[in-house]
Amino acid sequence: MHERTLSDLHTFLGPDGLLLGDRIGERHRGDIHGNLGVPPIAVARPRDTAEVSRVLATCSAAGIPVVTHGGRSGLVLSCSTREGELVLSTERMTAIESIDPDACTAVVQAGVVLQTLQERLEPDGLSFPLDLGGRGSCTIGGNIATNAGGNRVIRYGMTRELVLGIEAVLADGTVLDGLKPFIKNNTGVDLKQLFIGSEGVLGVVTRAVLRLIPKPQDTAVALCGLADFAQVRALLRHLRQRLGGDLTAFEVLWKDYYTRYLTLPKARLAMPDAHDFYVLVETSGSRDDGLQERFERALGEAIEQEIVENAVVAKSGAESLQLWEMRDLALEVSRTMGPSSGFDVSLRIADMAAFAGDLAALARGIDARCETLVFGHAGDGNLHLGVSHPLEVADGKSRVESAVYDLVRRYGGSVSAEHGIGVTRLAYLGHTRTEAEIATMRALKNTLDPDWILNPGRVFLREPAGSRS
Ligand SMILES: Cc1cc2nc3c(=O)[nH]c(=O)nc-3n(C[C@H](O)[C@H](O)[C@H](O)COP(=O)(O)OP(=O)(O)OC[C@H]3O[C@@H](n4cnc5c(N)ncnc54)[C@H](O)[C@@H]3O)c2cc1C
Repeated sequence: MHERTLSDLHTFLGPDGLLLGDRIGERHRGDIHGNLGVPPIAVARPRDTAEVSRVLATCSAAGIPVVTHGGRSGLVLSCSTREGELVLSTERMTAIESIDPDACTAVVQAGVVLQTLQERLEPDGLSFPLDLGGRGSCTIGGNIATNAGGNRVIRYGMTRELVLGIEAVLADGTVLDGLKPFIKNNTGVDLKQLFIGSEGVLGVVTRAVLRLIPKPQDTAVALCGLADFAQVRALLRHLRQRLGGDLTAFEVLWKDYYTRYLTLPKARLAMPDAHDFYVLVETSGSRDDGLQERFERALGEAIEQEIVENAVVAKSGAESLQLWEMRDLALEVSRTMGPSSGFDVSLRIADMAAFAGDLAALARGIDARCETLVFGHAGDGNLHLGVSHPLEVADGKSRVESAVYDLVRRYGGSVSAEHGIGVTRLAYLGHTRTEAEIATMRALKNTLDPDWILNPGRVFLREPAGSRS
């Protein structure tokens, strides 16, 4: 089946542009976390937009489903391939095409790795402020497709806020050239928004114009120990007031996270695990405006006002990295729980403490051995959760997941703050989005990809659940 089509693509893309048979490696079957699907029928590795267009037009005509792979660092199983799928990998689309220091913009191909871009911008005194633990693997195209968040959303917003223009290819090969470098461009429907955060179901992002900032000249980082969540909220208000726009991260770790982190071989004891909450705070700005002093003064005030019990301020770049490492090692910390399910939810900040308490009670109610882990970008209203379900707990995974998502729904939260829906959360999309909203998503899909060849079975299904008799 499809031999003729694949042979045509092979001729067009060349032997390195279309991998077949034994040349398809494990990495083309799934994500970097080891979640492998079945071998794809082929792996297309286009080098540019024209090649992406040709691949999609060809697959559309032949009815071949296509799953797009960026850096495969996604956390919702979208990259695990299913029977009959062709992988379109952006791994050869790695050009940083131009950097405009006046306009503070960069034009890049979708396969550029986030960290590569960050490093390339440094000598020019510029920065792309998106930053997340997957920086060494994830690509700009994947960041756009997932509307990635990360550590500095509190200051710079999600990826959506950092993209000025997008070039994308529709399922039938049509190229939408929206590579305008303008902040202001009120010319009808803003089509780029369709591709940001829609996880590749409406089109393949091929190039983007990104918004840059002057590289902050100075950064200060501290870890604070606090007694309760009311103090965490007080610290957030205090630092926002004292540091304004210079507050670039506010990451909260519940005590259980910190004690688990301390069991890792790489861990370094920054302060005793005597506090119920730990907050990693970062501020960035220009060197000559006394940033460090303002930061230390603000933390000193927080100690005087008994908001903070203890604070450790990094004295060097290396110490800052060490403090950040405890947050960047989140996946390793989660693994210390054994079999567990991870969640990435949005909640009102005011509800977080009560939610975490209900979560622990819910886990214990399922089985006394189920434990919880809570941490995340609390300043953005985003928590990451882990709930363990030891193998002895019957149906532990499904019971935990449905109970947690029900709890999120009761709190009026979102079942995905930043990682997306993918396959993992497909059944729970309706906990956060209404039927009318999901029907509108389907209508868009029917218009832009009428044969549903792009990332099928991810995000939302062709027919509403229960519509088949
Ligand atoms: C240690 C670690 C920490 C992380 N921390 C965060 C975090 O703080 N915040 C956060 O948001 N995420 C985080 N992630 C998740 C992940 O890194 C992001 O979702 C990232 O944006 C995915 O990029 P990717 O290139 O790896 O995409 P992939 O995993 O390859 O793909 C993700 C989705 O995007 C689609 N896609 C990829 N490229 C394109 C394209 N060019 N056009 C259309 N669709 C495309 C895929 O089909 C898939 O549906 C973390 C991951 C790891 C491993």
